[in-house]
Amino acid sequence: MIRLSGKAITKRYGATRALDGLDLDIASGEIVGIAGPNGAGKSTLTRMLAGEETADSGEITLTRGDTVVDEVWRRVAVVHQEPHIWPNMTVEQNLAVGREGRWFGDITPEPVSAKAVLERLGIAGFAHHELADLSLAVQQRVEIARAMLSDADVYLFDEPNSALTEEESEALFATMAELAGSGKIVLLITHRLNDFVRCCQRILVLRDGRIRCEIRGAEISET
Ligand code: ADP
Ligand code: ADP
Repeated sequence: MIRLSGKAITKRYGATRALDGLDLDIASGEIVGIAGPNGAGKSTLTRMLAGEETADSGEITLTRGDTVVDEVWRRVAVVHQEPHIWPNMTVEQNLAVGREGRWFGDITPEPVSAKAVLERLGIAGFAHHELADLSLAVQQRVEIARAMLSDADVYLFDEPNSALTEEESEALFATMAELAGSGKIVLLITHRLNDFVRCCQRILVLRDGRIRCEIRGAEISET
């Protein structure tokens, strides 16, 4: 069981409190939506999970069973609307390099597992294609494959389907459900209420840097 938690996390930019006493407690197995108006703190939280920002106070922790994981960001993968990939490298080469220019420590994907991940995502046929030649939906699958290979525990999907077709969105949601089913933590940020209804067991509503309410299970389809 993986657990992502945080207590009273704050982050200020000058006089602005981007995060203002945020509490988090998310366990593996569910897909949790993060909703909230512009300026609510979603991007700040995303950057913090990705290790691009540190909290002024409070801390995000990740535990695996009884083990507290160091360097949480190494275990967090953000899947972006615009995939962060190297367009002039092949799929295989992209998988070999860490996301956003960082190497994942000593994790170098060996060909067999890379192949298995590509097969699982239905993109093994593209292994030797350059990313620039592939559709956005496939590029995104490469980003997901890279995260799976780097052994990420937390997958944060940031407006992942804004540019996808209905069919591609369905396939993406299926992959998110698979990740959750295999014991990962899956987070979804979106402005589309309907996507929450389709995928999430729980929605956290963020406003002014704090979770103001939480909507669970059956209530989601009633809202
Ligand atoms: P969201 O992603 O929900 O729209 P953000 O996390 O981007 O919210 O922003 C939360 C608040 O923090 C907003 O008031 C925003 O203007 C402010 N903010 C975010 N990043 C910065 C920054 N780098 N410098 C100054 N203010 C920032
Ligand atoms: P393809 O038809 O492209 O060969 P499949 O439809 O067989 O691939 O899909 C294989 C796996 O990849 C399924 O688990 C599916 O959910 C996932 N998948 C397909 N398209 C996407 C996508 N755009 N984003 C994320 N996962 C996807």
